[in-house]
Amino acid sequence: MSRYVYPFDQGDKDQKDLLGGKGANLAEMTKIGLPVPPGFTITTQACRAYMKDGHVPPELRVEVTMAIREIEDRMGRRLGDFHDPLLVSVRSGAKFSMPGMMETVLNVGLNDASVKGLAEFSGDERFAWDSYRRLIQMFGRTVLGIDGDLFAEALEEAKRASGAITDVDLSAADLKGLVERFKQIVREQRGRDFPQHPREQLDMAIEAVFDSWNTERARLYRRRERIPHDLGTAVNVVTMVFGNLGESSGTGVCFTRDPSTGHSGVYGDYLANAQGEDVVAGIRNTLPLAELESLDKTSYGELLQAMRRLETHYRDLCDIEFTIERGTLWLLQTRVGKRTAAAAFRVATQLVDEHLITMDEAIARCTGAQLSQLLFPQFDATAERELLTKAMPASPGAAVGEIVFDNAQALERTGEGVSVILVRRETNPDDLQGMIVASGVLTSRGGKTSHAAVVARGMGKCAVVGAEEIDVDPAAQEMRVAGRVLTAGETIAIDGSTGEVFLGDVPVEDSPVMVYIAAGLEAGLAAAEDEATAELIHAVDRVMNHADAKRRMQVRANADTAEDARRARVRGAQGIGLCRTEHQFLGDRRRDIERVVLAEADDEREAALAELLPVQRQDFIELLEAMDGLPATIRLIDPPLHEFLPDLTDLAVKVARAEDEGTVDERDVALLAAVRRMHEANPMLGLRGVRLGLKLPGLFALQIRAIAEATVQLRKSGKDPRPEIMVPLVGSVRELHLVREQAEAILAEVGAAHDIRLDLPIGCMIELPRAALTAHRIAEEADFFSFGTNDLTQTAWGFSRDDVEGAFFADYLENGVLTISPFETIDSDGAGALVLTGVAGGRSTVPGLHIGVCGEHGGDPESIHFFHDAGLDYVSCSPFRVPIARLEAGRAAV
Ligand code: PEP
Ligand code: MG
Repeated sequence: MSRYVYPFDQGDKDQKDLLGGKGANLAEMTKIGLPVPPGFTITTQACRAYMKDGHVPPELRVEVTMAIREIEDRMGRRLGDFHDPLLVSVRSGAKFSMPGMMETVLNVGLNDASVKGLAEFSGDERFAWDSYRRLIQMFGRTVLGIDGDLFAEALEEAKRASGAITDVDLSAADLKGLVERFKQIVREQRGRDFPQHPREQLDMAIEAVFDSWNTERARLYRRRERIPHDLGTAVNVVTMVFGNLGESSGTGVCFTRDPSTGHSGVYGDYLANAQGEDVVAGIRNTLPLAELESLDKTSYGELLQAMRRLETHYRDLCDIEFTIERGTLWLLQTRVGKRTAAAAFRVATQLVDEHLITMDEAIARCTGAQLSQLLFPQFDATAERELLTKAMPASPGAAVGEIVFDNAQALERTGEGVSVILVRRETNPDDLQGMIVASGVLTSRGGKTSHAAVVARGMGKCAVVGAEEIDVDPAAQEMRVAGRVLTAGETIAIDGSTGEVFLGDVPVEDSPVMVYIAAGLEAGLAAAEDEATAELIHAVDRVMNHADAKRRMQVRANADTAEDARRARVRGAQGIGLCRTEHQFLGDRRRDIERVVLAEADDEREAALAELLPVQRQDFIELLEAMDGLPATIRLIDPPLHEFLPDLTDLAVKVARAEDEGTVDERDVALLAAVRRMHEANPMLGLRGVRLGLKLPGLFALQIRAIAEATVQLRKSGKDPRPEIMVPLVGSVRELHLVREQAEAILAEVGAAHDIRLDLPIGCMIELPRAALTAHRIAEEADFFSFGTNDLTQTAWGFSRDDVEGAFFADYLENGVLTISPFETIDSDGAGALVLTGVAGGRSTVPGLHIGVCGEHGGDPESIHFFHDAGLDYVSCSPFRVPIARLEAGRAAV
């Protein structure tokens, strides 16, 4: 039979799903013999049943009775007894820590009778009445939902009336009066008396903790932390121990080692004669933990022993909350301590040096997300700054610069040596030049896979997107936000890691860990300004080396230019997984593609193509040279056509105007007719990828020839180019077959002309559901697969990757349809299932078929683990994410 209640001596730390983090750790501490006040945990399952049925399961009441009686027998006290009462706290505790988000009620069991018992037992009447008023106050607010200000005002009133300065100055008689006043508030507000029956208090408090799972702030927190809404919280019912019973009592928090450096030592704070909430409220200054030794040597010694015990047991840095009640030490909570990114690396390697964990465990404890925090330049957090707005953090980093609204301004100002932030409603390929020279990009529209976001991430450029509160008005050369009007030339600062936009200059610091990654250990150590940073760099180095040694998957980079390729290589990329050749035709060269696409006659097209050949060959020579000796997957052009053609509306307006003014240019009229002919309502599902290649055969042929000739030229000069030809947007094996036939013919011809054998691998993207479902057929013609999870996600969900994030993802995240954008982390049930199908299908035809992924997910930590499990051979991601992918691929393998 399933049970809803686990006494602390019956659970353990591995039951976090059921007992919550706090409950599982209280059980574990009990199990290893540490002094935990007796208590029990009500499971998350009970909470889920309560949420589903709207009432607590009847069995729960029975099990609570049994658990309470067991404690009463052990303690020799009764809940709410009027001599020596047992009091309990009722605390929330979910699987994932949600600090301060849910409710706690202390001192449950106090009433008009037992308050006297407490006074008797403690010998302190003031303490007893103070405890009682705290209960009514806390219970009134959290359980009965009464406005907390009413109690706070009554407390102030009582202090005024008795001339007390702080709460502590109130006498027992004052507090007795205050209790009466509090009870009156309850009656006035709720039309009922404060419940006197201890069991009724307990049951109501339990339900209130369950309810607190669904408060607005808790939901908001979970959304941000990606915690599912259906887990529910456990409830811990714990015997009260008091840190406010005089000078031999107190309360504190401690860490088993320095939470920032990982060094061992005594770290924590202590407050004598106080309860936990007083420490949090900061009413009095705490003492460094080491001073407890002089106050209570025995408890201090016991605490140090418990810390050592816990650390050895958990083999990790733990934090602990404790209370000393009249010289007796009690541990109220422990957990594996939260830490900063830098501390994660330091603590892990420190523990390895102390032989507490292995290097495998160490890398499991350092995440790619933590590494990425160490790599990006950051704003100096101590600097003064004015926040203008907060939007989507699309590409991390910190950038400061003058506002510019277009390419021309961006080029002009950066040409003068000024740093700029390109501000646009949204970006499109025409903005590329501006993006390249800008220090950062800010848009008022678009989501994490919008053009601005993807391109910025690819360039490692800081970007904040979808800042809807900003009204961008390029015509007026101004942006309006937070009641201000900012014009071109004014300075703003954007934080791509948090999505914050600040007014004015905010100082930026370079990261020494980045120096290490890009230039090696020596350089990183030289950039470290202090011993702690040097230690950090050594720690990161050890973790990275171990991850590299352990990982099965290779890590490649998405790189379109030689510069990208070099940048990727120094960061440890083992090749290029995706060169998007269409990016080579943005900017000035866009016209060349436009001519090819719009040419009406074959000779016109061939002339346009012929002009492109030397340009493309040079592109590939540079790229392959930068990746010499390593594979480079070059994808044949995949332009959503609209990105390369003039905008239909703009052009139509231009021609109409010219007609009115009698200044018509016939070329514009012809162009307009051609653009109309090619116009697509939905270009992302239109004439792109292999479809365009088959419709305009010369285009792919030109690229294949350029690859072949570049390869020949490099080989002749003694280099080792390793291009792989990749065909985009394949949905049918026949499409690939047709391109392959053509490619093999060109490779054979170029090879023969130079007497060089050119058997370059020819493979394809798997980025359409049909491709994944027919992968067993496609593998007949493919030397390799690369999953394009951007398009695969787009087509699996039927979500337009350019539009949906801004349009309704916020609602979908709110109502739980999504917990995270599927464009960011692979949706394992949908697009992920297609990946698994594609892998199985491909390898059923060609065992050992080489398979990778080059969608944005290739650099996402969670997705990398999925790809490892799916059996992929490599992930490919932007050069800046290469170190993160190396680490995560290593973590996936241990
Ligand atoms: C993809 O679809 O995942 C992919 C890598 O191609 P692109 O993003 O260029 O469409
Ligand atoms: Mg694609």
